[in-house]
Amino acid sequence: MKKILLEENEIPKHWYNILPDLPSPLEPPLDPQTNQPMNPEKLKALFPEALIEQEMSQERWIPIPQEVLEVYSIWRPTPLIRATKLEEYLDTPAKIYYKYEGIAPPGSHKPNTAVPQAYYNAKEGIKKLTTETGAGQWGSSLAFAGQYFGIQVKVYMVKVSFQQKPYRRVLMETWGAKVIPSPSPYTKSGRKILQEDPDNPGSLGIAISEAVEEALENPDTHYSLGSVLNHVLLHQTVIGLEAKKQLAKVKHYPDIIIGSAGGGSNFGGLALPFMIERLSGDSCTRFIAVEPYSCPTLTKGEYRYDFGDTVGFTPLMKMHTLGHDFIPPSIHAGGLRYHGMAPIISKLYDEGLIEAVAVKQTEIFKAAVDFARTEGIVPAPESAHAVKVAIDEAIRCRETGEPKVILFNLSGHGLLDLTAYQKFFEGELSD
Ligand SMILES: *Cc1c(COP(=O)(O)O)cnc(C)c1O
Repeated sequence: MKKILLEENEIPKHWYNILPDLPSPLEPPLDPQTNQPMNPEKLKALFPEALIEQEMSQERWIPIPQEVLEVYSIWRPTPLIRATKLEEYLDTPAKIYYKYEGIAPPGSHKPNTAVPQAYYNAKEGIKKLTTETGAGQWGSSLAFAGQYFGIQVKVYMVKVSFQQKPYRRVLMETWGAKVIPSPSPYTKSGRKILQEDPDNPGSLGIAISEAVEEALENPDTHYSLGSVLNHVLLHQTVIGLEAKKQLAKVKHYPDIIIGSAGGGSNFGGLALPFMIERLSGDSCTRFIAVEPYSCPTLTKGEYRYDFGDTVGFTPLMKMHTLGHDFIPPSIHAGGLRYHGMAPIISKLYDEGLIEAVAVKQTEIFKAAVDFARTEGIVPAPESAHAVKVAIDEAIRCRETGEPKVILFNLSGHGLLDLTAYQKFFEGELSD
């Protein structure tokens, strides 16, 4: 069986919250003004109460609201696919499975959290959400979600991506959002950066500063973040919970779980539900987060408190970071150009429960093309990081003869990233 499906009524009814199960508690976010643990009251200027509660909740299972399940059912459950053609091509005894999140209307895993975030904000009477986007995956997901709940979405898009990826901007506008290249002249944060460097290509950190600034200054406006935070990883656990049911149908359990890691949400979404058995000592599954060589947050970053944005508006979070003023090179996997890593993933990495690998841009496109020529699906450049390491692990199985079960997250399709593929074919990509 190549494609393992679930019925619509098998969409999980709860998200899995790993906070009560972590080997040691997460360090609290700190208030940037006092350096003391953040007062949740202060977060209400940015987030609805329901999400602030989820951010700190010690409940293991959190019910998914009916309204959210209804929107999820447009594309969920997503298929789990056995990569039989890739296995044949690699001549490996490994069994490779991928969870395909690219079938969501915006083309990635990101609407799994955009939909509940828009829902909880609307329920609290919020009319407008600001956010940042790199490659446009997050902005388009929030634009898509906003429409269902009557929310106007304004997206600060990293300037280099705004120029490299015009189609995602059109997609956001199709779903009714307003898109602004960042750094922009419309916020104090943007103006400050443009004064120092008019050609600044932008970064997620800068775009976050602009979006947060606007939300702080307008009472009917909240801010929405597409990765990193605990509640985002929580919402993404629908991926791993579904994958677990699907693998159980074919009586398999993964030996290796792989995901690309930008802020850690698609990796966490797939991995955390399987971490339950690893933490209880019932499995020895390996978890591998794959990051770009040019933005090596886990493999080269420090584990310390840092800001989530460039200017320093956000609470300080204990995480692996390259420094909040780090501006990564303009690689094509725009969704992986973030200086920090989710505190949950950082903690698990620090505890030795997950591994991290950094891979180069040309290697990931080579893997992506092999994948497209065997499995048919053209991966997003971000997802291609996971494809690359899944292939490497499958080749290792060929060498050792071990029939391991490899599961990876194909977090999105690359049909709006074909310029990057074109550059790869023309030999114009650099590492
Ligand atoms: C945004 C994005 C990522 C990286 O973000 P995470 O929060 O680390 O998941 C990976 N893949 C795709 C397709 C994305 O859009």
